[in-house]
Amino acid sequence: MRLTYHPYTLELRRTFTLATGSRTSTPAMLVEVEQDGIIGYGEASMPPYLGESQATAEAFLARVELSQADPFRWDKILDAVDHLAPGNHAAKAAVDIALHDWVGKKLGLPWHRIWGLDPEKAPVSSMTITIDTPDNIRARVKGAEGFPVLKIKLGSERDKEIVQTVREVTDVPLRVDVNQGWADREEALRMVEWLATQGVELVEQPMPKERLEDHAWLTTRSPLPIVADESVVRLSDIRKLRGAFHGINVKLMKCTGMREAYRMILLAHDLGMKVMLGCMTETSCAISAAAQLAPLVEWADLDGALLIANDPFRGATVHDGKITLPQDAGIGVERILDQ
Ligand code: MG
Repeated sequence: MRLTYHPYTLELRRTFTLATGSRTSTPAMLVEVEQDGIIGYGEASMPPYLGESQATAEAFLARVELSQADPFRWDKILDAVDHLAPGNHAAKAAVDIALHDWVGKKLGLPWHRIWGLDPEKAPVSSMTITIDTPDNIRARVKGAEGFPVLKIKLGSERDKEIVQTVREVTDVPLRVDVNQGWADREEALRMVEWLATQGVELVEQPMPKERLEDHAWLTTRSPLPIVADESVVRLSDIRKLRGAFHGINVKLMKCTGMREAYRMILLAHDLGMKVMLGCMTETSCAISAAAQLAPLVEWADLDGALLIANDPFRGATVHDGKITLPQDAGIGVERILDQ
């Protein structure tokens, strides 16, 4: 099996602002595996705050040796890739997605069928509205008209003003992502109680990721589900979050790909936690890979490919929040742009 990769820069349609900073592009790495005339596509998307870069991905992928690999031993291959070096989660996800795509294509089946899932069970996806000026927020919310649920980024001094601005324009249910932006648990509870009166249905990562006791305090009192994002990276993180959160946000780029994401969803459900399937700004390659798992989860936030201007793939679509899974084999994408 032949592995190739090259850097690709995702151009964002609009500046993306979170509690942690702003950016206009996202570095990525596009990966292909090829054998028997079949190409499997994969992708690493690497927002800078997560610590990976095109340089680290390139250095990691240079060490991945697949020339003698049997792709149907993908479980063993992915264990070996994981053990090459710590971290590098997005680069590992790129290999995982490409291998899944290849195996599905070889079998002639999309992964949601291999897993036995009903594509109609995929929940609607939210569309993200990032922190911005009131005029821009109003424009963005109007631009997301048709989406049945929006995800609002909070975590600044202006939180109430932002929610009120959104509410001037729409009355659809909102999800709130604080990105660790609140410092005090008592204030967090007061804010969550206020948000519950504003048509908000869940709150993601209110406080810093390591503060599990404060999150547990909040979760036992909160009128809304509290969902971990930054506090949960991989499978091994989930058990210690029981009681601290009502649910977890699983993202392929955090957890090394489809194999581990599937296991995380099953474990979280076993522990009585709900699951959101999330994403970074990504092409339709990684979004289509994640979408294969969407029928398993309670909440989806798979708007990543809608936020970029130069998507080189066509695959799963998210139209007005409805996730449509391609019936094509593998992850169900085709290359539409050469770069
Ligand atoms: Mg989040």
